[in-house]
Amino acid sequence: MNNKLDISVVVPLYNEAESLPELVAWIDRVAVSHGYAYEVILVDDGSSDGSWEVVESLREKYPAIRGIGFARNYGKSAALYCGFAAAEGEVVITMDADLQDDIEAIDGFLKKYQEGCEVVYGVRSSRATDTAFKRTTAQGFYKLMRLMGTPVIDNHADFRLMSRPALEALSQFGEVNLFLRGIVPMVGFRSGIVEYERHERFAGESKYPLGKMVSFAFDGITSFSTMPIRLITLAGFGIFVVSLLALLIFLVQKLLGYTVQGWATLMGSIWLMGGLQLLALGVLGEYIGKIYMEVKHRPRFVIEQVLDDSP
Ligand code: UDP
Ligand code: MG
Repeated sequence: MNNKLDISVVVPLYNEAESLPELVAWIDRVAVSHGYAYEVILVDDGSSDGSWEVVESLREKYPAIRGIGFARNYGKSAALYCGFAAAEGEVVITMDADLQDDIEAIDGFLKKYQEGCEVVYGVRSSRATDTAFKRTTAQGFYKLMRLMGTPVIDNHADFRLMSRPALEALSQFGEVNLFLRGIVPMVGFRSGIVEYERHERFAGESKYPLGKMVSFAFDGITSFSTMPIRLITLAGFGIFVVSLLALLIFLVQKLLGYTVQGWATLMGSIWLMGGLQLLALGVLGEYIGKIYMEVKHRPRFVIEQVLDDSP
């Protein structure tokens, strides 16, 4: 193993004051025992629980720590992206702050890297620590994503290793609507998978409650795939064909002299069509909204404070 390998560990964190000391101690322990040269970039995604103060105090003990603090909560993807830009190592490993991702898997990551993989995905070997609800929704999410044409790796969150070339390539993706779990596989390169046991969250609550998860999934689909728009077009076409047939039937009935009351049919179709139209408009609106956000070219995040050696 090449001991001179420079490893940057990028950790996005949002209200993780309780987990941070344990996390940093753990990374340091593993890195030192393997003799890796490393840095930890802690990206504080607008925490309000004093996480930044913890970062500051940890830095006094561990000089390998660098800190970046956002001006508000911008989301995990933005924090990761910011960490990528700051990282100086030959490889970058991203992991969660809550100790769910197992840094002991680093050996496997580096082995794959040395075998020529530019991207190594940490894939959880089981979902035993999840609730049945999270398990089912997660499986549904991966299935739906792939159905919609977004490349995602099953049971992989954001615990992964990326090499310099892979990071460079990633930095060329200029979109503001970042969906890293889809973009990274799309960038390409030789990749490998390392299985790891996902632990329980060390402290605190998940920062991804159901609402945030749903909007994350929604963003993942709409920032990658135009399939929903195509489905709308198809549905519209299908309904058009059906309505032509219906019209024909109505005409025949009229000619034969049936006077159909048909109140229920009428009401039913008004509500059904109205609903479909609103849905279709909503989906289109979603895409227009995405375009709107992109053309504004807003920064992905705003940095408020930095703890770094460079002036
Ligand atoms: N996180 C973040 N910004 C957010 C939400 C979460 O940086 O807006 C971080 C969080 O601190 C953690 C990681 O992203 O380090 C994963 O979040 P979490 O553990 O809450 O997600 P879960 O494991 O429940 O899916
Ligand atoms: Mg977690």
